[in-house]
Amino acid sequence: MRTIVKTLPVLLLAAALHGAVRAQDSPVPEAVAPGVWMVQGQSALGSAANRNFISNAGFVVTDDGVVVIDALGSPALAEELLAQIRRVTPLPVRHVILTHYHADHIYGLQTFKAAGATVIAHRAAGEYLNSETAVQRLKASREELFPWIDENTRLVPADRWIDGPTTLTLGGMEFRLQPVGPSHTPEDLVVYVPALRTLFAGDLVFRGRVPFVGQADSGHWITALDTLLGYDIAVAVPGHGPASTSARADLELTRDYLVHLRRTMGEAARNMEPFEEAYARTDWSRFDKLPLFKAANRINAYNTYLLMEHEAQ
Ligand SMILES: [Zn+2]
Repeated sequence: MRTIVKTLPVLLLAAALHGAVRAQDSPVPEAVAPGVWMVQGQSALGSAANRNFISNAGFVVTDDGVVVIDALGSPALAEELLAQIRRVTPLPVRHVILTHYHADHIYGLQTFKAAGATVIAHRAAGEYLNSETAVQRLKASREELFPWIDENTRLVPADRWIDGPTTLTLGGMEFRLQPVGPSHTPEDLVVYVPALRTLFAGDLVFRGRVPFVGQADSGHWITALDTLLGYDIAVAVPGHGPASTSARADLELTRDYLVHLRRTMGEAARNMEPFEEAYARTDWSRFDKLPLFKAANRINAYNTYLLMEHEAQ
């Protein structure tokens, strides 16, 4: 705890000198709770220009070492994050916990592995890791994200696969690893630190905006959000975007949007009403002022329509 108290004002000052720019070119830690830090990736697609710095990572300093949540999108970024952690504490990184195995959250893993950290993730990621999709994705990244992703970048499996809710204790600090998939991915995991009322939510919660639903399992996703609503959360660190001190409102908004999609598109699919007609007559007024509504809502509705058709069979 002493280390934290000493360095916190310095780093806060550093953040202030950076003009309080939240999303950075380089991972610069921002304190979000005592001993809890995050770096915030850019709101963009991964590119060589941004070094695939498009996702967040967090770390928690305990009396016996550091726990990192997510590994960033390239080994170079992970090196920088590691250097930043060393400015905060001389203690080693003991564990890296992954919220899910999407490229932008895991390409930095080999750096933490080399530094001696244990990688922990949900077992359901194994299927993806061993899939042709993962291999092809890495191959494409070696071109699109070169030189940040190159022949030396590899997919790193977890050292410890968890199957269910798991409590990890380090330096007297309890970390609750809660599987919440299949939602955004089969292996979704959130990390809750009760002593600090802090939640690392991965890509399950979107703040003040319409989420990209993609091929997600929205039924399970809603169940997962309801589970998280049972937590006492002061600060939530999402997989993308700034930290939130209004976690309950964020969780409710994401959940209510998914519920609305499933209810309206489910009814249309069951009645075999064509998608276009159903979409046009649906009342979107609760969500249509939100950021990304125009970019995401129609495709979200269409994907949900297909999903509900499938579920109805
Ligand atoms: Zn993500």
